[in-house]
Amino acid sequence: SRGFDLTDTRTLAAIETARTAPATPAAAPQIAGPVTGSAPQPVTNPATGAAVGHVRWAMPADVDTALAAAQVWQASPAHRATVLRRAADLYEADFGPIFALLAREAGKTLPDAVGELREAVDFLRYYAAGAEALTHPPRGTFACISPWNFPLAIFTGQIAAALAAGNAVLAKPAEQTPLIAAHAVRLLHRAGVPAAALQLLPGDGRVGAALTRAPRVDGVAFTGSTDTAQAIRRAMADNLAPDTPLIAETGGLNAMIVDSTALPEQAVRDILASSFQSAGQRCSALRCLYVQDDIAPHLTKMLFGAMDELRLGDPWHLQTDTGPLIDAGAEATIRAHIETARAEGRVLKELPSPGQGHYIAPTVIAVSGIADLGREIFGPVLHLATFRAAELPQVVADIAATGYGLTFGLHSRIDGRVQAITETLPVGNIYVNRNQIGAVVGSQPFGGEGLSGTGPKAGGPDYLPRFTRAPRPAPG
Ligand code: NAD
Repeated sequence: SRGFDLTDTRTLAAIETARTAPATPAAAPQIAGPVTGSAPQPVTNPATGAAVGHVRWAMPADVDTALAAAQVWQASPAHRATVLRRAADLYEADFGPIFALLAREAGKTLPDAVGELREAVDFLRYYAAGAEALTHPPRGTFACISPWNFPLAIFTGQIAAALAAGNAVLAKPAEQTPLIAAHAVRLLHRAGVPAAALQLLPGDGRVGAALTRAPRVDGVAFTGSTDTAQAIRRAMADNLAPDTPLIAETGGLNAMIVDSTALPEQAVRDILASSFQSAGQRCSALRCLYVQDDIAPHLTKMLFGAMDELRLGDPWHLQTDTGPLIDAGAEATIRAHIETARAEGRVLKELPSPGQGHYIAPTVIAVSGIADLGREIFGPVLHLATFRAAELPQVVADIAATGYGLTFGLHSRIDGRVQAITETLPVGNIYVNRNQIGAVVGSQPFGGEGLSGTGPKAGGPDYLPRFTRAPRPAPG
């Protein structure tokens, strides 16, 4: 335990203190110069719709000021590592307020918040260690653009890697989650990261777009949707030097195959976690489940029974399994998807939704195969198809043909089959006889192929070197 174990009474007492604290957090540009900023606007709690704080977005003048003020971190790798480790300690010690922000601003359940804080801290320590082994200089100024679904872990991981390598960072958090980002940046500054080496630019895609068109930017680290990554690649191609790196971690169309040799209880547990944990708002989440026809009736009966036990509700309650979707737009998109399926008679299972907040209850929809999805459905919706034994090669081919390659799950006890499928499928993260939503910084790095990302994998040995400038080959 690192001080925030949910079975520990002191942890729970600190969480209760944070829950009842009359916090009115605010976020604004944190730049090394005078701030313009927009008028304050409310940040809302996705579980209730209530305002939880305010944000002032970066204005074009703030982007210019930050770009002009950015300075690479002029410190030895050993010093940078010390500061990043100090930041990790500050994050850990601050778990109560961090959980409060993750719950209120991002709708994270407490177990999800614990996992996210651990991952953020692991990134800080892992890249700190990596800094000590680096031999190449920083590239210069990195734009780090992050999504709302891991507003602490992914935000911190990008920044920690760029800073560990000695770059200046312009951090652009997702518009839905500026408060947790502002809090993290304050902790990083308090740990000793210089103000000119880490600047925060809250705002929407317009601020992100401005950064990917700014010739002073020497590299972009992006995590978010595939569509946005493609827009960023176009903007960089038109505006930045041709060798400017784009490190993109993007969306997925993730499948799982369960064959008739699978252990049904284990498969059901792993399907539930993979599809519905974090309300399906993980890039790794299972979207399309293929079950072999001879076990399908039994397995789906067990699955639907287990779904009835899932508890939707207040992310603060320790018993809650599934929290809300992030905002009204996400809710409307998923609701429309379910309504289309309902009109076609394809909804197989759904649960009652709470009345308020952006909740969508876990839902199962019948499909003939993964191609029916077309695109990533970013919510608690599982699509279910069945296959006959002879169709397995076609199923594998259909999964590969989506062009996405983020996660894939396989439940089978036929070793030769496991080997054949896992060796050929062009997917970054493959999970056998377990759930498909885990990554472990340092030992199980995470990243996709094809439409799911450019690599290298975050939390792996190849990630940090991409933030450095490899020496040019000697002339001649
Ligand atoms: P998004 O693409 O809508 O936004 C991501 C970030 O990009 C935000 O900060 C946003 O403001 C910014 N942005 C938007 N338009 C931009 C533009 N034109 N130029 C520059 N920046 C711009 O994604 P999201 O909805 O925040 O996050 C969910 C998506 O992220 C899903 O597709 C999910 O699969 C993906 N994701 C992938 C991973 C991974 O590791 N592969 C991890 C988490 C999330």
